[in-house]
Amino acid sequence: MAWGFARRADQAGIDLIQDCEVTGFTTDGDRVTGVRTSRGDIAAGKVALCAAGHTSVLTDLLGFRVPLQSHPLQALVSELLEPVHPTVVMSNAIHVYVSQAHKGELVMGAGIDSYNGYGQRGAFHIVERQMAAAVELFPVFARAHLLRTWGGIVDTTPDASPIVGRTPYSNLYLNCGWGTGGFKATPGVGWCMAHTIAHDEPHPYNAPFTLDRFVTGALVDEHGAAAVAH
Ligand SMILES: Cc1cc2nc3c(=O)[nH]c(=O)nc-3n(C[C@H](O)[C@H](O)[C@H](O)COP(=O)(O)OP(=O)(O)OC[C@H]3O[C@@H](n4cnc5c(N)ncnc54)[C@H](O)[C@@H]3O)c2cc1C
Repeated sequence: MAWGFARRADQAGIDLIQDCEVTGFTTDGDRVTGVRTSRGDIAAGKVALCAAGHTSVLTDLLGFRVPLQSHPLQALVSELLEPVHPTVVMSNAIHVYVSQAHKGELVMGAGIDSYNGYGQRGAFHIVERQMAAAVELFPVFARAHLLRTWGGIVDTTPDASPIVGRTPYSNLYLNCGWGTGGFKATPGVGWCMAHTIAHDEPHPYNAPFTLDRFVTGALVDEHGAAAVAH
């Protein structure tokens, strides 16, 4: 999927620079004039910050705070099995989701590891708990073997909704706070983000998802939808 997006972006004339870390910013008053990277400086008229779990690392460099917590989130897959599970089952009560990929592996996961961190792996007791929950739902899965697990860093907000829009800098735009559910949102928010940058004002769809809702109190509470995963 990610490579699919990358290839289409490339065809549309977008330069994708890999292995290139943003290490700082150049600013002039309330404007960001460029990014400093491990491959040199890049001047910019407008800058979009889309660094998920590392967003607050970068906003720290710019001197403003965002209400994000970075947590590990894990998923795991079993060995390949014959088709046995033709749907997605998600349990908020015992905290696990299970689906079966077309190739045959059971794909499972649950919520975030509760501690903050930037390590690209999670704690083993979370995996144990997810497996126990899956077996409680489907005792037959006790015979499946866990093949691999992986973890990434997700950026969670207090109201479990993303932040998409403007920042204290007049030409810096933020797309973050997707937590456990940003993958499915990618095409839609890409459109809204492009609109926001091009028009310098939010698209109606992302208008409520401002950074300053955490000051005004106009929160968009999605904890119910984000309880396990998507
Ligand atoms: C195990 C797991 C399972 C998930 N399951 C689902 C699911 O089932 N459904 C769903 O919708 N979502 C799911 N998610 C969440 C989803 O993956 C994220 O919400 C989504 O990828 C966020 O997209 P993004 O573009 O904001 O950030 P990312 O895809 O995380 O991209 C951010 C990029 O910024 C880069 N970066 C960070 N700092 C710097 C820097 N200083 N310089 C340069 N680059 C930098 C990172 O390397 C990364 O490539 C899951 C996440 C995990 C970890």
